[in-house]
Amino acid sequence: MSAAVTSGEVPLYRVAVRALCDFTAREGDLDHRFTPSPSAREGIAGHALVAGRRGERYERELALSGHYRGLAVSGRADGFDPALNRLEEIKTHRGDLSRMPANQRALHWAQVKVYGALLCAERGLASLTLALVYFDIGSERETLLTEEASATELSAFFEAQCERFLSWAEQEAGHRQARDTALAGLSFPHAEFRPGQRELAESVYKAAATGRCLLAQAPTGIGKTVATLFPTLKAMPRRRIDRLAFLTMKTPGRRLALEALARLGAASDCGEGGEGRLPLRVLELTARSKACEHPDKACHGDACPLAAGFYDKLPAARQAAAERGWLDREALREVALEHDVCPYYLGQELARWSDVCVGDVNHYFDVSALLHGLAQANGWRLALLVDEAHNLVERARGMYSGELDQHAFATLHRSAPAPLVKPLGRLMRQWQALVREQGGADEGQRGRPAYQVLDDLPGRLVGALQQVATAIGDYLAEHPGGADPMLQERLFDALGFGRLAESFGEHSLCDLSRHGRGRAVLGLRNLIPADFLAPRFAQAHSCVLFSATLSPAHYHRDLLGLPDDCVWQTVASPFRSDQLEVRIPGGISTRLRDREASLEPIVAELAGQYRRRPGLYLAFFSSFAYMAAAAERLARLHPELPHWCQTRGMREDERDAFLARFRAGGQGIGFAVLGGAFGEGIDLPGERLIGAFIATLGLPPFDPFNETLKVRLEARFGSGDAYAYRIPGLIKVTQAAGRVIRSPEDRGTLVLMDDRFQRAEVRRLLPDWWQLG
Ligand code: SF4
Repeated sequence: MSAAVTSGEVPLYRVAVRALCDFTAREGDLDHRFTPSPSAREGIAGHALVAGRRGERYERELALSGHYRGLAVSGRADGFDPALNRLEEIKTHRGDLSRMPANQRALHWAQVKVYGALLCAERGLASLTLALVYFDIGSERETLLTEEASATELSAFFEAQCERFLSWAEQEAGHRQARDTALAGLSFPHAEFRPGQRELAESVYKAAATGRCLLAQAPTGIGKTVATLFPTLKAMPRRRIDRLAFLTMKTPGRRLALEALARLGAASDCGEGGEGRLPLRVLELTARSKACEHPDKACHGDACPLAAGFYDKLPAARQAAAERGWLDREALREVALEHDVCPYYLGQELARWSDVCVGDVNHYFDVSALLHGLAQANGWRLALLVDEAHNLVERARGMYSGELDQHAFATLHRSAPAPLVKPLGRLMRQWQALVREQGGADEGQRGRPAYQVLDDLPGRLVGALQQVATAIGDYLAEHPGGADPMLQERLFDALGFGRLAESFGEHSLCDLSRHGRGRAVLGLRNLIPADFLAPRFAQAHSCVLFSATLSPAHYHRDLLGLPDDCVWQTVASPFRSDQLEVRIPGGISTRLRDREASLEPIVAELAGQYRRRPGLYLAFFSSFAYMAAAAERLARLHPELPHWCQTRGMREDERDAFLARFRAGGQGIGFAVLGGAFGEGIDLPGERLIGAFIATLGLPPFDPFNETLKVRLEARFGSGDAYAYRIPGLIKVTQAAGRVIRSPEDRGTLVLMDDRFQRAEVRRLLPDWWQLG
């Protein structure tokens, strides 16, 4: 390649072939019309099958690289057949190839041409046959598209692609330098650190600088968001960290992170006319359902105006977004609409080019998470900050769990197009067989419970499900336009469930719930997320998990699969024990069998405390039924005492109304369910909340699911009871109690209403600054 620079030259910018072509070779519409692509496993199997059909000298997975004017380009070509002098790019697909969007085909040609240029330059070849090998997963047939090309032509093509990328690469290299210089000189945004804040910031810096994982328990009110963001940003230039992901459990957490970044100078309104702003690109990632401008439309150019010509308009939108730098949800929408492109997909594109992404934990930990995929594909050094990390065990369990609904597939069976009737019929027969094997169709029939944990995965049903997925996939590939949304939904169900079934093991269980005839639900539920998350932690450069309630550390280490060298830190609470009076009145048991008898003494505690110190309180219970019974008893015995109750599935405005009663000068008791909307993440400082009653240990119910969980956790970690029940329960208790004292000036009362709070193994799990009465 004539223009290749010498290998001794330090590259200005490195780019993977795939990323280069993504940038330069895509044009036309965005097209997410449902063309079911093969699963990763099918893709790997397809590649292996094609390569296996080639001759002995066939070279697979060829590592190739080259330079052009300071740009270092590298990647792996799928295969080279020296006997035929043919370079192959293998793409697996399903159904009619002619339906493949033109921009996808153009991208494939661009990739094989760039690899061709690199191969010719490396081996001194004068010409090559380039081949796109389309392998149909369903029929196992290959369609070969070939083109002859000379080394000169390929070199010219390579140079043209590099030229199109170069000005962006130069801008990126300049931005990186400016960013790193600014971050090295970044100063803490407040005059001084709060108590405990510096300690936390120092540990976070060490974790980022040494590439370790830190589990940091730090109390409310010390400013954890800034204390984690600031040191990680400072460490970025020193440790050549490419990207930072701030991951949260809920939307309010994202807001806090963006506010902290704005205080650090990253927002567009920082400095005069935005001139003095920190040269840091910040992107807020939102769900498609929240970012979509046309929820009634499909994501392709024929349906949605913001998908039409998306790739043609993308360069200008991307440039404008990069110049803007600060892209919270509103700013991203503004840029997208100015350029007439979809805000959601523009956000997905900009995740490649942003320094800090603020998103949900899903964006890194989920099965096919965007940030994890990008980090792997581009070899990023990625620093992770995970807020409210005490919730990660539960959230991750959800990410690796799924359900299959018998009724939903039966409904599809009744209205299915002809080619799907047979496979769906087979699936329905397998459903019936499974339900029969497990004791009958009806809920509670013959004394059996409606819920059962199965000994094993029902293999025949899963096999029939895979055939249904293939049949729907093929059908949709042939009929992409007018497909029934129900077909797509069932295909997603089947693919998601199938993927979980492929990796089924000791970390998960399979269960069957029967809600009546023809209404069974098969579940695959993750119990030990560590098996899925451990590689994610290992692949990140560094990770800080922080929360006010992360004790005991071994629980999170074990269940999340944190690396062995993960550091534990607990920042001492700035609160004094005399700020919180903690009482455990004797003689109250909230065990299921004692609930009725507990109502009177609980109500007496509530009324007594309220009489002694009138003001605003929260009372937490284990369930809505228990809460309602206590509220009813209070109303009967103490009608003068104002109270209000949480209700199931409260809307946002209803939740706001519940909280609005907690205003300075107000009086009464808000009744809530532990672990629900008011048990964490709400801030009621000073007189807005002067005490809490907790009438539960927060233990999950003793049912077959939790008992199986306990057995598995005992077998794996030797801590069944504590890991399945006690620790998750007391994390919720501590979170709820944490609503009372929010600042060094606050004073309050906490009444723990269950005699088991007196037990040593329970007391050990409560914060050590509490002085238990
Ligand atoms: S605006 Fe909505 S429908 Fe249109 S491309 Fe974006 S996400 Fe899809």
